[in-house]
Amino acid sequence: MNPLHVLVLSPDSELLASLQAGDGMSANTVWEALSSPLELEQALNRLPEALLVLDLSAPNAPQLLEVLHHQEYMLPLVVVSETTPSLATINDLLRFRVLGFIRRPVHSGKAQAVFREALQRAYGLVRVRSLEQDLKRANQRLNQRLQELNTIYTVGKSVASSLDLDQVLAQIVEVSVNLAQAEEGFILLREGERLFLRAAKNLENQFAQQFNLEASDSVARRVINTGQPAMLRRETKIATGYLARALLYIPLQVPERGVVGILGVVNRMRDQAFTESQMFTLSSIADFAAIAVENARLFSAVQTEQARLRTILERATEAILVVDPENRLLLWSQTAGELFQLSPAAAGQPVEASVKHPRLLELFRQADGGPTTLLAEIEVAEHHIFNAQLTVVPQTGRVVVMQDITSLKELDRLKSEFVSTVSHDLRTPLTTVQGYVALLERVGSLNETQRNFIHRAMESLAHITDLISDLLDIGRIEAGYDLEMHPCRLDEVITQAVQALEPLAQQSEVALRWTPPAQPVWVQGNARRLRQVVDNLVNNAIKYNRSGGFVEVSARFDGTHGIVQVKDNGIGIPLAEQQNLFRRFYRVQTPETEDIRGTGLGLAIVKSVIEKHKGRVWVESTPGKGSTFSFILPALPPPG
Ligand code: ADP
Repeated sequence: MNPLHVLVLSPDSELLASLQAGDGMSANTVWEALSSPLELEQALNRLPEALLVLDLSAPNAPQLLEVLHHQEYMLPLVVVSETTPSLATINDLLRFRVLGFIRRPVHSGKAQAVFREALQRAYGLVRVRSLEQDLKRANQRLNQRLQELNTIYTVGKSVASSLDLDQVLAQIVEVSVNLAQAEEGFILLREGERLFLRAAKNLENQFAQQFNLEASDSVARRVINTGQPAMLRRETKIATGYLARALLYIPLQVPERGVVGILGVVNRMRDQAFTESQMFTLSSIADFAAIAVENARLFSAVQTEQARLRTILERATEAILVVDPENRLLLWSQTAGELFQLSPAAAGQPVEASVKHPRLLELFRQADGGPTTLLAEIEVAEHHIFNAQLTVVPQTGRVVVMQDITSLKELDRLKSEFVSTVSHDLRTPLTTVQGYVALLERVGSLNETQRNFIHRAMESLAHITDLISDLLDIGRIEAGYDLEMHPCRLDEVITQAVQALEPLAQQSEVALRWTPPAQPVWVQGNARRLRQVVDNLVNNAIKYNRSGGFVEVSARFDGTHGIVQVKDNGIGIPLAEQQNLFRRFYRVQTPETEDIRGTGLGLAIVKSVIEKHKGRVWVESTPGKGSTFSFILPALPPPG
């Protein structure tokens, strides 16, 4: 606790000594003797707490009382007098806080006791007053803190609601200078190894202009390297010839990017240091500045990215259409715009309103709740064939990318035509060669080696003939020749195929089983080509089987579709190979298939025919256990 000052206002030098002698708490009491009103005034300015001892016998007692009278705070008083004071004097003294009244002689036991009691009460008063002041200070601090929090909240709101970085940073510097009661403030942002000034308050113009410095400025560098604030007192030279008496640098930190800048407040003229509490407050504000800087960076990155994407999209040679999950047009490439004559007003409108292409619209409809990618060949304008791929992009919508494949299609047609012509031209001489080789045995006796050679020649000729006939078939199927469709019974097609392959099954010691379905399966199809499909599947199931194995063919009608399965317990197909089986010339290369003759075109023909019938074919297989090839075709309702 503070010591209590006892101011003795008396010309009598004995008085102080006598009172002091009776003071039991002298260690905490500071004594002073005063005589003139001026001295009293000065002492009171110096000491807000004191106990006054006023000697009424002093000639200037009324003047001294007058000085006390002008005090804001009523100081406690002990009055010393020679005689009992007059009523007028007592009346006058009532205006003061008189704690005791002492009649001379002062060293008498009674006088001493009165003084001690007054002293104790004065101590009590000092304590109460010090508590009052503590309370007042605490209140002030609380209010200040509330104001700071309010400012921080306002800054936070402004950061969240504005994308104008300059405006936000200027506001942040402004409030930082106010909160820290600083002379100047600024925000430096980092670009590589340099710092440049982005916002400032009260900064000298000349200095502000040259504030583009190496981050190696010692204080700034320390803040950037450590991520810790720097608070310096005394004269510190920062930046270029800039002298400060006190400075506070707070790092602007962004998670994962580290320190992106510095919020600084400086006192250059005033010798006033910054406090820890100001540092904490400014740290909160610096966090908002960092958020604002990061938001602005992300926003600009998104904008740049968006602009880049838009340019790529617009310049792409492909026709690209992007729709939202409700099928409203969002973006399109220039090519798409020209192809479907899209005006800028089409943006945001349902795709059906602008794109008048039934097949493309059907593709969009198919994607509703369906697969995530769809492929289709569509014809746009006159004889322009596009390969359209629709991709569902979660949370964005759908993207259709269309490539013009008209020239590729034409090339493919020419190639098929060429292959067909060559195959056709080869077939006649080959048949002749085959005929003559077969006749060799009949025109004279042959030795074992010659017979062996003829056998090998016949094998190779059969292979080439198969190849040519498969090539011709696939060419014709893809070109759409020989594909007239009529209502036909799939179950009857299967019966004929199974009967024709029975001898091969027996020869291969494979049990071929087929139980026709109870209900006939009608489809709109080409019976010759469907027969070829079943032939190829059953033939493979026998070929890629083992002696003692089985092949089971089944068919059923489910009300809308006909489903056929060819199941075997043969060698099976490795998983990795299964997706390639339907490609042309693809054959599985394993020791088990090495000696089995084939062209690699059988399943390609199957796929082509089934797709021409608007169906689908697939395989399930386990190596060593067997395979099941299935196909599904749209069925016709049974006649009648
Ligand atoms: P290939 O003329 O070679 O039989 P395919 O196109 O009919 O040509 O079949 C392609 C490949 O698929 C075959 O080489 C074979 O490896 C494999 N394959 C087809 N069917 C079966 C089956 N039922 N079991 C095992 N492998 C099969």
